[in-house]
Amino acid sequence: MGIPGCSMHGVAHAVSLEFILTIQAINGFKDILPEAVGRWQYIEQRARDIFERFGFQEIRMPILEKTELFVRSIGSATDVVEKEMYTFADKGITMRPEATASIMRAFIEHGLHVQQPVQRLYTIGPMFRHERPQKGRLRQFHQLNAEIIGASEPRVDAELIAMAQMLLDELGLAVSLELNSLGCPVCRPPFKEQLIVFLEQRHEALCGDCQRRTRTNPLRVLDCKKTSCRAVIKDAPSLLAALCPDCDRHFTEVRTVLSELRIPFQINRFMVRGLDYYTRTTFEFLTTDLGAQAAVGAGGRYDGLIEQLGGPPLSGIGFAMGLERLALLMDQHDHCPIPAKGMDVFVAALGTVTIAPAGQLVHALRRQGAKAAIDYSGRSLKAQLKQASRANARFTLIVGEDEWTRGEAILRDMRTQEQQPFALRGSSEEQAGRLLDMVQATATP
Ligand code: ATP
Ligand code: MG
Repeated sequence: MGIPGCSMHGVAHAVSLEFILTIQAINGFKDILPEAVGRWQYIEQRARDIFERFGFQEIRMPILEKTELFVRSIGSATDVVEKEMYTFADKGITMRPEATASIMRAFIEHGLHVQQPVQRLYTIGPMFRHERPQKGRLRQFHQLNAEIIGASEPRVDAELIAMAQMLLDELGLAVSLELNSLGCPVCRPPFKEQLIVFLEQRHEALCGDCQRRTRTNPLRVLDCKKTSCRAVIKDAPSLLAALCPDCDRHFTEVRTVLSELRIPFQINRFMVRGLDYYTRTTFEFLTTDLGAQAAVGAGGRYDGLIEQLGGPPLSGIGFAMGLERLALLMDQHDHCPIPAKGMDVFVAALGTVTIAPAGQLVHALRRQGAKAAIDYSGRSLKAQLKQASRANARFTLIVGEDEWTRGEAILRDMRTQEQQPFALRGSSEEQAGRLLDMVQATATP
């Protein structure tokens, strides 16, 4: 039975319309709208600029990789591999959850070290992790990544950290730097044994996850955020005290150089990175302004990784920063000098005959490098001037029908409201050239 006063046709229409409108983005996947993109571009440009000052070159890799790449590099007993990866199980491929493994794969595949023994590479792009979405935590998020491959000196660690710090400084963000050393295959295994003994003695006091991790990935327990676990962990043996002489020297040197470069840091002996490949220096840039999402960026050394993936025995170090978190912090502090985007010239064509020549002029302006806009709908002058100010146009060229027949138009400075005549003679290219000269001569900064 139909609803009184409402035809079946109307109901069907409403239902189908509702159906069409309800398709939304997937939870944890977010659009970056034009109003926010300026900030993203600003961060990316600053990053590219600084990375290039430090001699880095850009590399771009595919988003899909063989699942095995991440299992072998990140480690099978890590949160990322155990529960966060987007995997097409039947095809054995995964959407990259991070970039380092892919960069190493590309590095090995193309033998990049043959051309240049030390490679400095950076990349910017989306990563995918199936986590619970929150502010600053998405399922598709974006990272800036920088890696130095083929150099093992502690000075390189400090230089890379200093580069990350420089970016944060230039973005105007105050975040703190924490530093730790995770040792190497010489000193970490005996420490792990020592830690397992300590944790097993306190098994009952640990959370379920940590009880399990005690055997699968004991270092991870050091980094548990639960109060009950923290109470246990504060008395745990310190890996820093168990470092072998080589790792100890390395870590001392990194700290010395950071101090030389006047980069403040704090030692956090409980910092364990969530990926298995790290050795020696690890670091995190932290903020208190994003709730639970404290890490803005993080990284470390991964000296065995390339060999483990079938490449030459080269060392490496890198970091990743989250673009969403950087953008959020900048929004909160609102000290990002993003220049307002706008048009150089808006051409207001009035009446039907002016549209074709005005269109040609706009095309010529654009060919000569200007940002030019036009509206083809023949709206009133008032409406088009409004449109020009909304588009943030510096000048409007008013092409009225009467003036056009006299070979004239009016150039209006949108800041001062001053108007002057502009002669519409010659080809559209010639007109565009003269107009741009006039605009440059008139424009006040
Ligand atoms: P967290 O502890 O917040 O989960 P993480 O240690 O897993 O971070 P890394 O793998 O070190 O993060 O990635 C480097 C950076 O990438 C982080 O510092 C963060 O800024 C960003 N990042 C990581 N996961 C996400 C995510 N799901 N959403 C948004 N940004 C993320
Ligand atoms: Mg994580």
